[in-house]
Amino acid sequence: MKTHRNIPVFIPQEGCPNACVFCSQKKITGIDRRAELNTLKDTVEKALENRWQESEIAFFGGSFTAIDKARMISLLDTAYEYVCAGKINGIRISTRPDYIDETVLEILKSRGVTAIELGIQSVSDKVLTASGRGHTSKHSENACKLIKKYGFRLGGQMMVGLPLSTAEDELATAQAICDWGADETRIYPTVVFEDTALYNMTLQGEYEPLSLDDAVSRCADCMDVFLTRGVKVLRVGLHASEQLVSAPYGATHPAMGELVESELYRRRIDSLIQGSRGKKLLVYVPFSACSKAAGQHRKNTEYFKNTYGFSQVSVYGTDMPEHTVRIHIED
Ligand code: SF4
Repeated sequence: MKTHRNIPVFIPQEGCPNACVFCSQKKITGIDRRAELNTLKDTVEKALENRWQESEIAFFGGSFTAIDKARMISLLDTAYEYVCAGKINGIRISTRPDYIDETVLEILKSRGVTAIELGIQSVSDKVLTASGRGHTSKHSENACKLIKKYGFRLGGQMMVGLPLSTAEDELATAQAICDWGADETRIYPTVVFEDTALYNMTLQGEYEPLSLDDAVSRCADCMDVFLTRGVKVLRVGLHASEQLVSAPYGATHPAMGELVESELYRRRIDSLIQGSRGKKLLVYVPFSACSKAAGQHRKNTEYFKNTYGFSQVSVYGTDMPEHTVRIHIED
């Protein structure tokens, strides 16, 4: 059976002029363009052989529209051949807000790009400056509006726990991403990798990394905003990798998304419970969400027992929409 998946293609930044304090990308120079195109074709061919019915080729790795224009166009032209041949449905890119303008969008539109993800990170200029992002919130707003005007699918990526960022700044960022027309989002709690400016700031006491509990709670607050406003959450947290789990500080847990969704289920169940000491709590959630509702190592079920004195907490999967909850309390 064929499945719908994106084909991720990592595009390293060649000589990126920016200096984001959290950036752990190696500054690569002298990329072999021909080899890069061959790798792109190999990656796509392999995915097609594996009978993925691809929806999009996804160029990830930071700032696709900030790379050399000739390189960007040759990558797009190569990917577009698969779109024209009907083998994939579109192309997705991720980039910075200050590298979006009408000329760039014309190029993307004419070569089959369907979705653009923007690294908005924060709408607080104070946070953007402290993070060395090199763009302002106004760049993000303008870029979002232009992307929507051109009819692309818009993804807004945001970060939680950046330098000087408060929980209120992050809620404002989530709301702004919705206001600016995003169809989807990714939430990344900040991770402090070695060899980054943020690592030095942490060692010097200029930055306090997020604790795991704070990262989960603040990501859950933002995810709640997106779910309430109908914006699809594509991902919470970086992909699990050796580099992630060996990072010295910040949100290094390899399953942040699962933890955040568990926290949201806990909050939703909590809001439904009234006077229940000594009784049994039966929780009904979508089939796919049983472990999230119960929590890692049954953290949520223990919470309900300890907080409300339930003698038993059971979670059942049913045919319900995502992120919905029903409860029943019995003697
Ligand atoms: S995260 Fe910032 S510094 Fe790193 S490659 Fe992207 S734009 Fe450049």
